Amino acid sequence: MILSEHQSKELLAQYGVRIPDGRLARTAEEAEQRCREIRAEKYVVKAQIGAGGRGLAGGVRFAATPTSVRDEAERMIGKPLVTEQTSSAGETVASVYVEAAVDIAEDYYVALVIDPSSGQPTLLASTTGGVDFEKTARRDPGVVDSLSMPKGAKTPAETIAAFLADTGFPSKSVEGAAEMVQNAARAFVDNDMTLAEINPLALTAQGDWIAVDAKVILDDNASFRHPEFEALRGRNDWSADERVAHQNEINLVKLDGNIGVVVNGAGLGLATNDMLIDAGGAPANFMDIRTTATSFQIARGVELLLADPKVRIILLNVHGGGMTACDTVAEGVAFAYSRSERKLPIVARLAGQSADWATRLLKDRRLPFESRDTLGEAVRRAVELAQKGGK
Ligand code: GDP
Ligand code: MN
Repeated sequence: MILSEHQSKELLAQYGVRIPDGRLARTAEEAEQRCREIRAEKYVVKAQIGAGGRGLAGGVRFAATPTSVRDEAERMIGKPLVTEQTSSAGETVASVYVEAAVDIAEDYYVALVIDPSSGQPTLLASTTGGVDFEKTARRDPGVVDSLSMPKGAKTPAETIAAFLADTGFPSKSVEGAAEMVQNAARAFVDNDMTLAEINPLALTAQGDWIAVDAKVILDDNASFRHPEFEALRGRNDWSADERVAHQNEINLVKLDGNIGVVVNGAGLGLATNDMLIDAGGAPANFMDIRTTATSFQIARGVELLLADPKVRIILLNVHGGGMTACDTVAEGVAFAYSRSERKLPIVARLAGQSADWATRLLKDRRLPFESRDTLGEAVRRAVELAQKGGK
């Protein structure tokens, strides 16, 4: 589970990681009120979305007075924010975090991750923190150093300080940074995090360290050990459509293309999208209908695609197995079409259990579909129709 910035910061702060004084607000008026509680000389208004890259996209704005905090919040709340890390449709901003602005002298980067080969927490650090970190690190991975911090053995503060000094952190301030890292590492292990990233970790003119931005990811496989996190499950990193889909036993991820895909199974979904792209097409979504989904739930997923103006055509790719039979999915598609004005053409590749029955069902309900026997043929036809413009 990806925590939003304010959740990430609040969790880290419980372990002694220093953060600016801040409050969450869901309306512009609330944002104004909240900053009266903060009482700073200057404020920062930050869009709370799952994706990063907000700074370069207008999702982090400075404001000198509570009134201008309200104006900035007004400009963000309820509107989509498109960053380098979102799709081109962006993520809708449901809330903003208002903070006392920090007087930053220098930006650094630290993160705790799980090293995939050892399975142990590893500290990443760089002196090139800030909004350009991802770009810089992609160009030159050498700007990031790493230090293994195995779970059982508490890494001494001196070891961390020496590592940070080697990385290029200013030697007269490394102790404070090491303490911050140690606190973050405790939070990381205690809460089964897979990522705790602080970027920027800011050094103020007074020589203090403060986490100006933070991103925490909790390990979903360990959620049974943390019933306390249930309340955080607002899934603020999902779009409204993705949330509706998940409530209906469908894993949906919106993409940028124009071919809506209805697929059962995550592996089949990925393969379908790969094949579409190889054939010169562009999927509008990734879909994985879980085996427990009923035809009513599947209908909800298909409705989301029919309601998406980008989608020009639907590729229905179902491999009926022991759990999901083709006719369950066909029934869902037919139900969605019966309720929608927009009857997009369908290219159907139905195989496995009840494939014939499903085809008959689509025919009986007079759906605008063409059948193809193999996935390859279905993909080619879908790409062709999408390029013609569909309907
Ligand atoms: P991100 O772009 O989504 O990672 O959002 P951040 O929270 O990292 O904010 C982007 C950038 O805004 C940071 O890298 C800082 O340069 C700047 N910023 C954010 N908060 C403050 C602040 O309190 N003071 C100052 N001076 N800069 C800030
Ligand atoms: Mn950041």
